[in-house]
Amino acid sequence: MQTNFERIKNDIENLAKYNATPGQGVTRSAYSKEDREARNYLIDQMEQLGLEIWEDGFSTLFGRRAGKKADAPAIMIGSHYDSVVHGGMFDGVAGVVTALETMRILEEINFENEYPIDLILMNAEEGETFGPSTGVSNSRAMLGTLTMGELETVKNRHGQTKLEALRAYGVEPDLKAAYRDPKTIKHFIELHIEQGPVLEEEGKDIGLIEFIPGIGRFKARFFGETEDSTAPMKKRKDALVSASKFVLFVDEWMKSLGVGIAGTVGKLTITPNSNQFVPDFVEAVIEIRTFDTKTISPKEIKDKLIHALRLIQEETGVRTELEEMARINYSNPTNPSVMNQSNVEKMQKICHQLGYSYQIINNGTGHDAMMMTDFVSTNMIYIPSKNGVTHHPDEWTDFDAVKKGADVLLHLVMDISKDQEG
Ligand SMILES: [Zn+2]
Repeated sequence: MQTNFERIKNDIENLAKYNATPGQGVTRSAYSKEDREARNYLIDQMEQLGLEIWEDGFSTLFGRRAGKKADAPAIMIGSHYDSVVHGGMFDGVAGVVTALETMRILEEINFENEYPIDLILMNAEEGETFGPSTGVSNSRAMLGTLTMGELETVKNRHGQTKLEALRAYGVEPDLKAAYRDPKTIKHFIELHIEQGPVLEEEGKDIGLIEFIPGIGRFKARFFGETEDSTAPMKKRKDALVSASKFVLFVDEWMKSLGVGIAGTVGKLTITPNSNQFVPDFVEAVIEIRTFDTKTISPKEIKDKLIHALRLIQEETGVRTELEEMARINYSNPTNPSVMNQSNVEKMQKICHQLGYSYQIINNGTGHDAMMMTDFVSTNMIYIPSKNGVTHHPDEWTDFDAVKKGADVLLHLVMDISKDQEG
């Protein structure tokens, strides 16, 4: 049993037409006209399959194939169809289209699923649209962790808040109605392009995720004093010298903690950033990735950073401060996202049966699946991204590679939607 190459290609090419920037990549922002057009296309496709279609209180679109057990928890499959500005045809869409095609095959073969199968089509995943830490909105709304406060404050490039954009889109958000009891979801499975070069470099068809590291971000600021480059060394308050001590501290500290955690100061903003002046201000952005929850707690990380900054301030006389860049309602760093291992093993078997090569990949960027792991059994399937390019007009995955991913998804769904124990 295999999915249909032509239909998959067609869906991807059709969705790419709902695009605010033709000829310059795909731009389909959350709550835009193009979002609405793509949604109408997807609804039309679901109607042809006779799915039960509904929207929650946050414009997340669902299509259900009923199971023999009417009230049983659902197998949920899907991804997002919004894009960044000047993005590509595949990010998110690959997951939407492969889930849709899975539903088509199940309908064609009159598959008798015990559990209901829900297609979930999300329209506000990209964090770029409303700024850092504002993405993966649909899954957060579904899990009850999205706040009205966020809807009222964060703004898109047109100056609209999320709330205003939603209203202009014709949706009055109702977060209570969007909440879904995690007990009603048996498994959540998302296929996504890799957004990295590993599968292509290794020549593998499929990436199977076992876990995605947690992510934490902080900003450290250093307030020195500007002086010209002739100022005597002794009386200087050089913000960059202080920041440099901090960079070294973070590196040594992270190394001392072993393999369960990694961290980098990857970005510095220096003012005035001139060879003629002593820097009076530096902002340093720290990103921390956690691979387990045992090595160190989020509170210990924050306390340690504050302590280190205080010591540097005492030593250099440069005032310091720390700002957390946390997503509302989430720890900083977030917990690592651990996938359902039994399903990973099932997919390994499926790949063998289909003759597809695979590799375990334990990294990844922010996806709705990451939000889901704390609440429900979750899995992710990666397919190759050409040259690892993503969020760019050159983003590309061969249609045949998408089809292979769809085949793995189909077979997994056929297995776990029958499974009595699961
Ligand atoms: Zn995506």
